[in-house]
Amino acid sequence: MKRRQALAQARTVLAGNNIDDASIEGEILLRHVLGISRARLFADLDGDVSPHQEKTLMELVARRVRGEPASYITGRREFYGLDFIVNPHVLIPRPETELLVEKAINLCRKNSYSKIADIGTGCGVVAISLAVNLPEKTIYAIDISSSALEVARENCRIHKTLDRVILLEGDMLEPLPGPVDLIIANLPYVRGTDISNKGELSFEPRLALDGGEEGLDKIKKLCLQAGKKLCKNGSLLLEIGQGQAEALKNDLHNIFPSALIEVERDLAGIERMVCLSLT
Ligand code: GLN
Repeated sequence: MKRRQALAQARTVLAGNNIDDASIEGEILLRHVLGISRARLFADLDGDVSPHQEKTLMELVARRVRGEPASYITGRREFYGLDFIVNPHVLIPRPETELLVEKAINLCRKNSYSKIADIGTGCGVVAISLAVNLPEKTIYAIDISSSALEVARENCRIHKTLDRVILLEGDMLEPLPGPVDLIIANLPYVRGTDISNKGELSFEPRLALDGGEEGLDKIKKLCLQAGKKLCKNGSLLLEIGQGQAEALKNDLHNIFPSALIEVERDLAGIERMVCLSLT
């Protein structure tokens, strides 16, 4: 079979089973099986796919149809232009989180921040993207899950950031040795009841998703600790879920009465990020 036919077959099965982005996902799975880049695939769509590769491809397509995310099948995910390793011990990075990284880079440059803490680092995408783009800074990357930190360590190795990303195991800000200029966090914020209702989330670690009844339990816990671990003029950047901005803004006003608080929307128009700056 030719690559062109294998691609069409994978895409047709995925689309027929209502998988969003069937076209991209079919391509990702085929490239994974062939072990080639996008450029090489499209440069030679008439190349051969062996019967063994075809069988493997259709097995992977079947796993995807059963709901397993493509990133867990391939073990890879792109984030902020970099390639990362993922596995079921970590949340799959979402494109919305790139918004936080961009904001953090701007804040660090504008305010000459030097110390950053990424809380709930998971596979390390936020900390490592910051380290790659801000070569002078020190970044503490904290997670309560030792298996997530192993993935983050491997990603640090791949991106050669092990010297500046300091991986610490523990709860929220507790392992931090001292105050930092910026705290950035994509903590679990999905409402507990929404996790079981959403099939696609059931493959991801509950620990990385479950934010309690209203989804804000973990984020609030971090906010209560943040005062002691933020330097003067420091900032706190938080990713949030749909409909959570107002409640969180109220809490932050109570904890930090004179701070400046901004909310930013993601590309889908959803309020996705809360940025607090101490004044
Ligand atoms: N953005 C993820 C989702 O809605 C949740 C990530 C998180 O809880 N931090 O599927």
